Amino acid sequence: MNEYDSKRIYDFVEAIGYKKTENVEQADCHVLNTCHIREKATDKVYHHVGRIKKKFRNKKKPIVIITGCVAQAEGDLILEKEKYIDAVIGPQSYHKFNETLLKIEKDKIKLNFTDFNTIDKFDKLNQNKNSNSNVSSFLTIQEGCDKFCNFCVVPYTRGAEFSRSFDEIISESNDLANNGVKEITLLGQNVNAYNFEGKKLSNLIREIEKIKKIDRIRYTTSHPVDFSEDLIEAHASSKKLMPLIHLPVQSGSNKILKAMNRKHTVENYLNLIDKILKANPLIKFSSDFIIGYPGETEQDFRDTLNLLRKVKYINSYSFMFSARPGTPAFEMKQTESSVAKERLIIFQEISEKIKLDYRQNIFNNKSTVLFENRIKNGENFFGRDEYFNAVVVESKKDLKGNIKRVKIIDGNQNSFKGKIVSEVDNQTVAA
Ligand code: SAM
Ligand code: SF4
Repeated sequence: MNEYDSKRIYDFVEAIGYKKTENVEQADCHVLNTCHIREKATDKVYHHVGRIKKKFRNKKKPIVIITGCVAQAEGDLILEKEKYIDAVIGPQSYHKFNETLLKIEKDKIKLNFTDFNTIDKFDKLNQNKNSNSNVSSFLTIQEGCDKFCNFCVVPYTRGAEFSRSFDEIISESNDLANNGVKEITLLGQNVNAYNFEGKKLSNLIREIEKIKKIDRIRYTTSHPVDFSEDLIEAHASSKKLMPLIHLPVQSGSNKILKAMNRKHTVENYLNLIDKILKANPLIKFSSDFIIGYPGETEQDFRDTLNLLRKVKYINSYSFMFSARPGTPAFEMKQTESSVAKERLIIFQEISEKIKLDYRQNIFNNKSTVLFENRIKNGENFFGRDEYFNAVVVESKKDLKGNIKRVKIIDGNQNSFKGKIVSEVDNQTVAA
């Protein structure tokens, strides 16, 4: 979501004459778009501002703005502590970005915009065309969260659940298609809780599917509790919805899920997976896990490992629990950090082994790859298959935006090497 937000900030500032630069030393304005989900985020901000200060020691001071959830959570404190920072702008106040920039230029004042103005923000966002012309693009459809998992800062930093207007999302999808985008990933902290005047995520998928130039649709991140029948049905019948579902579970122990306030049990979660697989057996899953949550015993950890082995996720993102000030879990008795670290290592060894087994089974199989860009200074072209696996092929031809059948001939943990076997030029791909 920060990547999407950063791109939209570029769209905003172009209107007042600012341009993106790849050269840090040339920038008149530095924007650090931050994430607050785990600790050390604030330290990183000070560290990065320190680097900017050093680079500009003998030059005119650039404008420095902190955006994102660290800005939201720490606001005035950051402005107080680091005088080099000119403004903090929270995620729901990006529509004030240009106004802020112009005020700093003119009046050299410090500004803090951390109100929750989601409606204003999206009104302003909708007035600016999304200029992204990459083959694959994000599109935020929903923001914020009402779930209040006991470990998570999102409900406090991104605010309450808010769904963007259905028509505005379709209009932005059409703009992206006209820019040359072939794949749209619909984004939300709780993307499957999307509900705009009764229209749900599945309705959006159906409508975007009608846009001829769009070949692929993905969405992330979904919550198990909001995974409704209509969305399962979309996975059974949609020709453009890709067959990989990111479905975070966090823990395989019911006791810990309860302590996390996750609102689902292991049994509910596994039933849901069964239902989805019955609807479309080609679907694969990825997940997030928190290891070392307060109160996690050896048995709880073993239950998490059992779940990991059972579902055989093709990608598992695991994090050591990070106590976030202001959340209920911050107050709980913490698991010793050496124990949590040890468990994380064990977890990651097993999840990597599962991933490797899956990847080895793909050798000599065929995948359908949407090509995105040429790899710098080479003859290799980069793309992704239906399951979001990175695939690289040798090609002198420009493959950008094309879909091809590719035989996988080699690979490692991060990417596959393939050979094009047949043309599927820009056709709809069946999941
Ligand atoms: N809404 C999604 C869900 O409920 O599954 C997750 C969104 S959250 C921004 C992304 C991931 O960060 C979570 O799934 C969780 O694994 C991880 N995370 C959030 N808070 C954390 C914390 N305090 N410590 C460690 N990991 C955390
Ligand atoms: Fe955070 Fe996701 Fe829980 Fe919401 S549902 S509080 S975003 S982990």
